[in-house]
Amino acid sequence: MTATAKDSGEASCPRPTRTCTKCGISRPVEDFPADKSVLSGRRASCKICERARHLAYREVKPEKAELYANNRRAREAADPAAAKAKWKAGRVASKDKKRLSSKAWRKANYEKFLAHKRAFYWRHVARLRAEYNSPQTGKAAARAQTYVRNREIVAQQGKLWRKANPFAARAIVMRRRARRLGADGSFGREDIERIFKAQRGKCAYCAISVKTKCHIDHILPLAAGGSNFPANIQILCPTCNLRKGAVHPVEFAQKIGKLL
Ligand SMILES: [Zn+2]
Ligand SMILES: [Zn+2]
Repeated sequence: MTATAKDSGEASCPRPTRTCTKCGISRPVEDFPADKSVLSGRRASCKICERARHLAYREVKPEKAELYANNRRAREAADPAAAKAKWKAGRVASKDKKRLSSKAWRKANYEKFLAHKRAFYWRHVARLRAEYNSPQTGKAAARAQTYVRNREIVAQQGKLWRKANPFAARAIVMRRRARRLGADGSFGREDIERIFKAQRGKCAYCAISVKTKCHIDHILPLAAGGSNFPANIQILCPTCNLRKGAVHPVEFAQKIGKLL
């Protein structure tokens, strides 16, 4: 399996074709005029149809075609710079228009667009992967650099957020642990605030104030089959929480001489 980009990904696929929206004939994609401003990179009608359209206009309205051509030549001769600017502006405008219509099409046919995109990716997968991983021009190297550059900043931001939102941060950690242990349920900052108020800011076991330091505890430990729903949450002081560990709540209450 030491194939190069060219022969592994692309040569094994059949030559791509598409159907002309004018004549309805399926043709190789090379038979459609290139147009970088549309998503596929080519016009929807084939080269033959595009040429026919142009000739048909001259056929049907020769005097108009002639008039337009003469007018244009006269304008260009009178002010070459302005003519060039106008031509350029027109090109930009039509490009914008095409880009917008293509965007609208993508939105209206999102599934189709995704299918096209996926098909394109897999048709050119070897080349695209090689480009992505290229040490000189690839995105992989650039991304790795960005990650290293921002790692410290991201970590610092996380730290600050956790400090400003301790309950929310704990809730996230506990939800993750619950998922890992296969336990259902989740709770949020509001739930903890509500429980905190219900316990009047005191440890559920020893009634010491937990206003400066509180631990969030699963009444029936996750490890013993407890859920992660708010009903299974209580607030303990650090001492009680560490003493309780993963012991069953009734057992623990008995241990500290407090029968439930
Ligand atoms: Zn055609
Ligand atoms: Zn306590």
